[in-house]
Amino acid sequence: MSDSVTGKQADVIVLGAGIVGVSAAYALRQRGLSVVLTDRREPGSETSYGNAGILSSGSILPLNKPSLWSDLPTYMTNRHAALRWNPAWTVRNIDWLVRFLANATTSRIKPRATALHGLIGASLKLHREWIVKADAAQRIRETGWLKAWRSDAVGAAMQEQAFLAEYGIASQLLDRQAISAIEPNIVPVYKVGLLHTQTASVDSPGAVVKAYARMFAGSGGEIRRSEITAILPDGEGWRVVLADGGISARHVVVALGPWSADLLRPLGYRVPLAFERGYHREFQPNPARSLQRPIHDAEGSFLMTPMERGIRVTTGVELTARDSPSSFTQLDQVIPVARGVAEFGEAVDEPWRGARPTLPDSLPMIGPAPRHSGLWLSFGHQHIGFTTGPATGAAIAAMIGGAAPTFDVGPFSPSRYL
Ligand SMILES: Cc1cc2nc3c(=O)[nH]c(=O)nc-3n(C[C@H](O)[C@H](O)[C@H](O)COP(=O)(O)OP(=O)(O)OC[C@H]3O[C@@H](n4cnc5c(N)ncnc54)[C@H](O)[C@@H]3O)c2cc1C
Repeated sequence: MSDSVTGKQADVIVLGAGIVGVSAAYALRQRGLSVVLTDRREPGSETSYGNAGILSSGSILPLNKPSLWSDLPTYMTNRHAALRWNPAWTVRNIDWLVRFLANATTSRIKPRATALHGLIGASLKLHREWIVKADAAQRIRETGWLKAWRSDAVGAAMQEQAFLAEYGIASQLLDRQAISAIEPNIVPVYKVGLLHTQTASVDSPGAVVKAYARMFAGSGGEIRRSEITAILPDGEGWRVVLADGGISARHVVVALGPWSADLLRPLGYRVPLAFERGYHREFQPNPARSLQRPIHDAEGSFLMTPMERGIRVTTGVELTARDSPSSFTQLDQVIPVARGVAEFGEAVDEPWRGARPTLPDSLPMIGPAPRHSGLWLSFGHQHIGFTTGPATGAAIAAMIGGAAPTFDVGPFSPSRYL
């Protein structure tokens, strides 16, 4: 009889094969545990596919920071490319919104920045190690990330630089000429730039996740492609019900990204997870006018990343239900602006939509579920999950193995909300 009929037994079953789940699965294999990684799609096909590919050293300040208050009047108009919001969703989720805004205070900056700095630092180290091991080193570029302003924003750039420097994060302040020197192929529309020099990027985040998944399989891990329908307590362990069978394991890791809350609800966990949706579209590049690195147009509220297939333009945030129909307003708003900066041709594909999973304090959950032994939560990585997946996975593997993670996981404890 096949596994799908009898049910399989593993030490750990990891639910979700985005960057977070794949990383956890690989890190668990490295500790010698038997691991089944399950997803209804190929690894790296959802949020971890469509992001901007930035491995960001400096993203230690989440969106809900004090400056959000001064931006709120603009955002309330619901016309800004940085943030669109659905009024009906907002009313239904007012509790989440109030908690999100309550974190946008001065006293909440340092604790969260310190926590994210630890997670990011550990993760960048692992990405740089794993990408070589996974035979995908050609995909990583150590050219930094440029945040650029059209206005005379030297003050804002210097403030950001000073803040990052407190955490030992290096950056360079650039004027128009210096920007042209490092990005000779863009129109010189930017007066001020901040180059995050310790940040890297990749030319296909989905392909990197697939490479890590191959590395996991190569290390003896099993990948099972199936819809996950339930997580059930089963004696000392767990039984995960799949559309085509089931798997039993001592431990279950929930790494389902924006879908994580769904399967936890029947177990009594109401996870305050919201969705900062975002879009991308890719365009044929002009090889003679290529970009050297991702560029964040701070006032235009978009990013352009040179990818394997072309230039990927990504949008800001759309606050709405995870599965509500797409609205291409933000893409329509930013693409003509992006064309005014970089030269690119026709679209190579349809627009893509994803959902950044976000908890009210913008920190992910990394750790044990409070009321169930052997259930591990690993999601909510908002704008920086592609960066922070590896260290998240390694921390979960360490905790399952009874070891201490390499960074402070206290601030990411699921019990702060559950
Ligand atoms: C526009 C945009 C730009 C971004 N840019 C960046 C960036 O530059 N750098 C960065 O670090 N981060 C970025 N992010 C954030 C990052 O992409 C996410 O935080 C990260 O990908 C989340 O990874 P994950 O593994 O948690 O989720 P996912 O990658 O979504 O993985 C979850 C998996 O669970 C599976 N799944 C869900 N439900 C089921 C079920 N019932 N049965 C079976 N399988 C299931 C899905 O198929 C999916 O593969 C960006 C996000 C967006 C939207």
